[in-house]
Amino acid sequence: MTSAIKDLAHALKNSRYTVVLTGAGISTESGIPDFRGSGGLWKARDAMELLSLETLYYRPELFYTEGLRLLNTMRGKQPNAAHKALAWLEQRSLVNSIITQNIDGLHYESGSKRVLEMHGNLRTSSCLECRRKTSFESLADAVAKGQIPPKCHCGGILRPDVVFFGDPMPPCFDEVVQEARQAELMLVVGSSLQVAPVSYLPSLSKQLAIINLEPTPYDNAASIVIRNKAGVVFEELLDYIRDEDDVWE
Ligand code: NAD
Repeated sequence: MTSAIKDLAHALKNSRYTVVLTGAGISTESGIPDFRGSGGLWKARDAMELLSLETLYYRPELFYTEGLRLLNTMRGKQPNAAHKALAWLEQRSLVNSIITQNIDGLHYESGSKRVLEMHGNLRTSSCLECRRKTSFESLADAVAKGQIPPKCHCGGILRPDVVFFGDPMPPCFDEVVQEARQAELMLVVGSSLQVAPVSYLPSLSKQLAIINLEPTPYDNAASIVIRNKAGVVFEELLDYIRDEDDVWE
């Protein structure tokens, strides 16, 4: 048990409002590669080009084959120890909300209730014409049957409800900024903090703690920095909190 993990436990206990900001790194232990970490998707192919509004509009064949394949790699995975620990911490009122950049839905899968999915999700898709929502599966099924681009009943194009490069920020963004401003403690887990506007959020919180395998631009501003796998850190953190429970009650 490192002293940084104990410090984190006490920071969580002392904070009156804790917001967790998660990125792709929290899901690598669930088998989903991140973008910028070593071995991430970024290096494998140009995800930025594939998952862009421009490709969706002007190269639908590429978007609905290669782009969709990339999105499908993030579906059907299981929450890991870090996702589960965050749900447990929320139940104990030690975490108030989660802001996530992830689209894999694993925070909801693990039972977290207050989750702001800044970059959308892989549960639903929407029609670009009539805005009707349908499941992600119906989009994927249409593509599997050779309908590219997949169409809504009204004839409009169906797109995943994911925020792609070139898209505006989702409606929940105002709420995200409010949450970050309200935070006495922001705990960043598995994010390189290099993607704007998410990269500005840590500067809005009073105190900052970071769990990330690699250095981030905010390490100097954080009072706690833990450079280890999130799953390992959260298992130790929960053990410590459970052991110390009677001290805290
Ligand atoms: P990023 O790839 O830029 O950074 C991930 C960070 O996590 C890296 O610094 C890496 O060192 C660290 N990391 C990797 N495994 C870790 C682990 N087990 N424990 C602790 N740290 C670990 O990710 P980002 O900052 O989230 O930005 C990438 C963008 O790509 C986001 O917008 C995100 O939506 C999207 N994306 C999402 C998923 C997903 O939904 N799971 C996957 C890939 C990319």
